[in-house]
Amino acid sequence: MTTHTIINPATEQPVRQVEQSTAEQTDEAIEHAARAQEHWRQVAPGDRARLLRRFAELVDTHGDELAALETANSGHPMGAARWEAGQVRDVLMYYSAAPERMAGRQIPVAGGLDVTFKEPVGVVGLIVPWNFPMPILSWGLAPALAAGCAVVAKPAELTPLTAIRVGELALDAGIPEGVFQVLPGKGAIVGQRLVDHPAVRKIVFTGSTEVGRQIMAGCARHVKRLTLELGGKSANIVFADADVERAAATAPYAVFDNAGQDCCARSRILVEASVLEKFMGLLEGAVRGVRVGDPTAADTEMGPLISAAHREHVASYVPDSAPVAFRGSAPDGAGFWYPPTVLAPVPPDSVAYTEEIFGPVVTVTPFTDEAEAIAMANDTPYGLSGSIWTGSVGRAIRVARGVETGNLSVNSHSSVRYWTPFGGFKQSGLGRELGPDAVDAFTEVKNVFIANN
Ligand code: NDP
Repeated sequence: MTTHTIINPATEQPVRQVEQSTAEQTDEAIEHAARAQEHWRQVAPGDRARLLRRFAELVDTHGDELAALETANSGHPMGAARWEAGQVRDVLMYYSAAPERMAGRQIPVAGGLDVTFKEPVGVVGLIVPWNFPMPILSWGLAPALAAGCAVVAKPAELTPLTAIRVGELALDAGIPEGVFQVLPGKGAIVGQRLVDHPAVRKIVFTGSTEVGRQIMAGCARHVKRLTLELGGKSANIVFADADVERAAATAPYAVFDNAGQDCCARSRILVEASVLEKFMGLLEGAVRGVRVGDPTAADTEMGPLISAAHREHVASYVPDSAPVAFRGSAPDGAGFWYPPTVLAPVPPDSVAYTEEIFGPVVTVTPFTDEAEAIAMANDTPYGLSGSIWTGSVGRAIRVARGVETGNLSVNSHSSVRYWTPFGGFKQSGLGRELGPDAVDAFTEVKNVFIANN
């Protein structure tokens, strides 16, 4: 058994040692889950609903504890971490309504009756990244449990603490042993075993497009069901007819939220050339105003990056020759800090413009008309989110239909509402999470013909 030392990214101090699961332990957990699922799928829908509600209530009463744990483990500002714990509660509560609504259909057929049932897929392997450990865990967990599946979750090696605690709260709420297990450990060991074990019938993976591609190939061997939430390089498109003041004031939060470690980050700002100068002037004030610092302080808006290695990766996109237009501030001393950074002008073939940086670095590039804005937004292998700023309803609709991406906001930078579907076009993923249909992704449709003679 090996252990991993969790480091607080804001202080570089050790937080806790976490035991890493082995491949053998992963196999045991999967077999335990398969036995538990046989029982769980038969728990009456109303009882499954009640257990999910109790689970949500316990997450709610432990919200501050979970938030403090996330702040220490991931460096998320306390306000953001509280929102994330609240999201786990809300997602569990939302899907607690699902077990009693998993109705099939009856279809008239000659010679009898055809009825359909929604059957749980079985054991689900949930592979979670380090950027939003709590929300992303809950997006797979809640609908899977509601559907009658058992879940084996692998948190990221760097950020397992809140997942471990949520697993304990599930047991306290009365979710039966084995129905939800959390296995800290390495992707190449625990994650890979979830992909390879035949008793795991579905994988839900969030992380890099590169690892997602490997997981998809692994799942193909078993024709295993799969949901992928991968990277992004989303555009924030600002037209001259927009409320440019509002667009500039919110643009930092559209990309620097979670220190830019966000698959929905609008990391390419595209601005209509006629308002570029005005926009840049307003953006500078907004970027310098982002409060970066101690994540435990109530007014902090941006914390550190997750690790020293990740900071090095982010910094590699800003060499000495980079066109830094202006920067915000970041603390000196201990902690994996990196200041909010705006690059302009950036040619569209620059790696800062084409690759997902996953840090607080944004590029600004002008466009001349609507067609060019759409073409530039789409000139990427990704398609996860984006924003459109305009005063014209017609243009908002035209551009929204033209941009190839799964989640768009008009005159807003919001990305995730748990009651609307979330997922990506192109290499940003496969399938949708959240929203009213997410439970279907954890069920198989069975059709049964009943002869009437
Ligand atoms: P990864 O894709 O490497 O990791 C995501 C999760 O997958 C982690 O739990 C990881 O485990 C696990 N994993 C890694 N390799 C395997 C494998 N072979 N089989 C099964 N599971 C595996 O992302 P990183 O965290 O390393 O981040 C790299 C980049 O990915 C980021 O810079 C960003 O571009 C993107 N990313 C996108 C996210 C999104 O929300 N769309 C979230 C996180 C990252 P382990 O703990 O061992 O790493």
